[in-house]
Amino acid sequence: MALIVKKFGGSSVATTEKIMHVAKRILSEKKPGDQVVVVVSAMGDTTDNLIELATGITKDPYEYTREMDMLLTTGEQVSIALLAMAFKTLGQPAISLTGKLAGMETNDVHTKGRIVDIKPDRVHAELAKGNVVVVAGFQGCDAQGDPVTLGRGGSDTSAVALAGALKADTCEIFTDVDGVYSADPRVVKGARKMKEITYNEMLEMARLGAGVMQPRSVEMGEYFKIPIHVRSTFTTEPGTIIREDYTMEDKDFVIRGVAHDKDVAKIAVLGIPNTPGIAHEIFSALADAHIDVDMIVQSIRNVEKNVTDMVFTVSATDLPRAKEVVDKVADKLSAVGVLVEEDVAKVSIVGAGMLGNPGIAARMFGALSKAGINIDIISTSEISISCLVKRTQLNEAVNAIHDEFFPKKG
Ligand code: ADP
Ligand code: ASP
Ligand code: MG
Repeated sequence: MALIVKKFGGSSVATTEKIMHVAKRILSEKKPGDQVVVVVSAMGDTTDNLIELATGITKDPYEYTREMDMLLTTGEQVSIALLAMAFKTLGQPAISLTGKLAGMETNDVHTKGRIVDIKPDRVHAELAKGNVVVVAGFQGCDAQGDPVTLGRGGSDTSAVALAGALKADTCEIFTDVDGVYSADPRVVKGARKMKEITYNEMLEMARLGAGVMQPRSVEMGEYFKIPIHVRSTFTTEPGTIIREDYTMEDKDFVIRGVAHDKDVAKIAVLGIPNTPGIAHEIFSALADAHIDVDMIVQSIRNVEKNVTDMVFTVSATDLPRAKEVVDKVADKLSAVGVLVEEDVAKVSIVGAGMLGNPGIAARMFGALSKAGINIDIISTSEISISCLVKRTQLNEAVNAIHDEFFPKKG
């Protein structure tokens, strides 16, 4: 007897036919006595469509984050109800639970919530009754009982966190690709599927834009020491296991993958006094507004006047609020101006093997230069290097870098 958590993403439950397919597949794999918890996302593009709907009311609906959460949580509520019904029509007792009913407790940072505790008593009770338990991904509730969503792609985190809290035997993430690849297979035709990837490398890939897993879900997997199996809803092939270390993977390549992120915008605060406390002033104001800042460059504009420019990136979704916050600070600091650039994107390489291997950066920059792509900002971590490029050149950049590190065979 095993306790199994399976998560199905939006494209896997995009239509009622697909929902029936998911229910049948789960039952065909379920052994007698297995306890199954299924976490699901909203159907297809529902979440995007709900956001679009809100823009009919206001240009920047994320100004009203609590109401956005009230709106967005409806998406997953539709799919859990339909999937639970699908099980029942197949003769399998099942029950749907919202995040709140499943005991997913979060902080109160609406639209960017973090799980603070999970009290899955109801889930256990329903499993004990013989039900397949269908839980709404992407949502929990704060101490007041208000709905809170976990950020885009948050159903992955719901699933892994629930698997941890339930001490599940396995956690499978079913999606529209059959595993984690060396680059987004929609962008790089020759991307290679990995048998395994470590939590660290997957976390870095995810943070840098590999949307196949939400970064927080990988952190959860590492925290609970649960291997995560990423695989296809539409085939039975084994996918990719995310775990502590490799057991069978060959280590031929110095980098593991190329990630990219289009949800990026650049802000430049120009002509600010080069005095202590300026960076703190700008970035603490952004932190108070729950806006994450990514690449940061400070450069001297005018040595004599002791004036600098501060350039950094935020997610494009956060741009309207970030601009508002930065405009206020810039005023206070008597900055010359604030510039915003939206046509940018980030391309990154990831791999634990690059540590202490300076030739890797040179090869990445060389690949971009050969493709005639200009680099705007560079940033590095222990296991990654990222370049900001023009958004229109992003796909070309990803392919050029992938070709450099994963040369085509033959
Ligand atoms: P779901 O709705 O199942 O959560 P997502 O769209 O969130 O699915 O994630 C799956 C998508 O992630 C794939 O279709 C693929 O385009 C994208 N992706 C980005 N980077 C990678 C990668 N390195 N490996 C696999 N898929 C990736
Ligand atoms: N439906 C949510 C989203 O589109 C959560 C998820 O799919 O994981 O972001
Ligand atoms: Mg997803």
